[in-house]
Amino acid sequence: MAELDKPQREVEVPGDWTYASAPESRDIVEIADRYGHFVGGEWLEPTETYETIAPRDEEPLAAVGQATAADVGRAVAAARTAYADGWSSLPGSERAKYLFRIARILQERSREFAVLESLNGGKPIKESRDVDLPLAAAHFFYYAGWADKLEYAFPNRRPRPVGVAGQIIPWNFPLLMLAWKVAPALACGNTVVLKPAETTPLTALLFCDVLRQAELPDGVVNIITGDGRTGAALVESEDVDKIAFTGSTEVGKEIQRRLAGTGKKLTLELGGKAANIVFDDAALDQAVEGIVNGIYFNQGHVCCAGSRLFVQESIYEPLVAKLERRLTTLRVGDPLDKNTDVGAINSAAQLERIRELVASGEEEGAEIYQPPCVLPEKGYWFAPTVFTNVAQSYRIAQEEIFGPVLSVLTFRTPEEAVEKANNTPYGLSAGVWTEKGSRILWMAHRLRAGVVWANTFNRFDPSSPFGGYKESGFGREGGLHGLEPYLTFEDSETFGG
Ligand code: ADP
Repeated sequence: MAELDKPQREVEVPGDWTYASAPESRDIVEIADRYGHFVGGEWLEPTETYETIAPRDEEPLAAVGQATAADVGRAVAAARTAYADGWSSLPGSERAKYLFRIARILQERSREFAVLESLNGGKPIKESRDVDLPLAAAHFFYYAGWADKLEYAFPNRRPRPVGVAGQIIPWNFPLLMLAWKVAPALACGNTVVLKPAETTPLTALLFCDVLRQAELPDGVVNIITGDGRTGAALVESEDVDKIAFTGSTEVGKEIQRRLAGTGKKLTLELGGKAANIVFDDAALDQAVEGIVNGIYFNQGHVCCAGSRLFVQESIYEPLVAKLERRLTTLRVGDPLDKNTDVGAINSAAQLERIRELVASGEEEGAEIYQPPCVLPEKGYWFAPTVFTNVAQSYRIAQEEIFGPVLSVLTFRTPEEAVEKANNTPYGLSAGVWTEKGSRILWMAHRLRAGVVWANTFNRFDPSSPFGGYKESGFGREGGLHGLEPYLTFEDSETFGG
């Protein structure tokens, strides 16, 4: 009988297309009950510990050390010894060998790292798997390439390593921020003491295993855990030559005050309140995807998040309608589910801050929209949120929320868009959506932001420098520019400057 003549069975047509759950197994990663500090290639027993948890359900994951000033001193001494005992004078091609190894091991173990990152930090597995891990490996690959070419990167300037770098990182991209800090520091011949954020120490601790696997000489990278007290002790350590900090503007300012007059080098990558500007000729559906990626990616825990949306008045209504419709399709839930778009808020403290600022938005008169979504009972959760009817003076338009909360404002002319976009103490990033190339360049020239994306948002590449203006900090990470903070130059002597 011909296929077409067979009696057709009745097929039930599904009423809606909700996704079945697709959880990633957590068995791939082994978490120890207790971790110490990784100092001089050994695990140092902590004197004090605290518990690190999974923000999706508050499950305790491990006991982690709270490093004291004495522990910090040991780590800095180990870094100094490793610096003097050979790392700083190793040929660049040898240093590159270790960086390439680390990059390859991260690629090989990426699933394990991605699961741990999502478990400890709350971000969706599809982001840690497709963004954090590939980019972290790419940073090591990229800076491995520079390690033996520093003389060419800075011709006639005789680049030399700085010494021991103290590096303090935040909780929003734990492993990626580690890569941004460690890769250029090692490529330039420095040694490192790194402190991950207190809520997300686990991938940095697993990274110590990668260092051992790569046979990196002991003491070249030391990892100590703890809260702001440990960070402050690292900043104050006499024998640290450079501090690299990514975190809040408040702490950044405090660090700058403490280092003033010490002669130590400093780079600060701080907060942001980025403008994402949509002109009436933009491809609206693409712009909506860019807006969603700009603010709901990583629950909005992104310093360069597009948290202020400026829409040209003539397209305000259709754009907001499209945006709100798109929000109804975002899946909020278990970070380990491969279908999840928006995961858990990183900590109880951060959830509290988001709630407080959202309440202020409602009190000040903005209109709130949240798509219908059922949030899990345990853990820290916040629904994707859009505020319309926002005045520039509202706190939600001025302060960094660091959560999945978008403020929508309008403009009429490009001049007005620039003026409003620059009306912020920050200057980290911005986005422009228009079909007109000349307008992109006109805007990019006037926006006071370290990075300006055109018809896209939140794009990162190791070869592209990233950093801020004004209260967003100073110094650049990534690209050739990212090498400079880890080098000193002898060119002034050569050229009699
Ligand atoms: P957030 O408010 O987003 O948590 P923080 O700036 O407080 O950001 O934290 C970023 C990093 O800075 C974390 O690793 C944190 O432990 C560290 N930190 C906090 N306070 C200090 C401080 N006074 N000195 C140095 N580091 C600090």
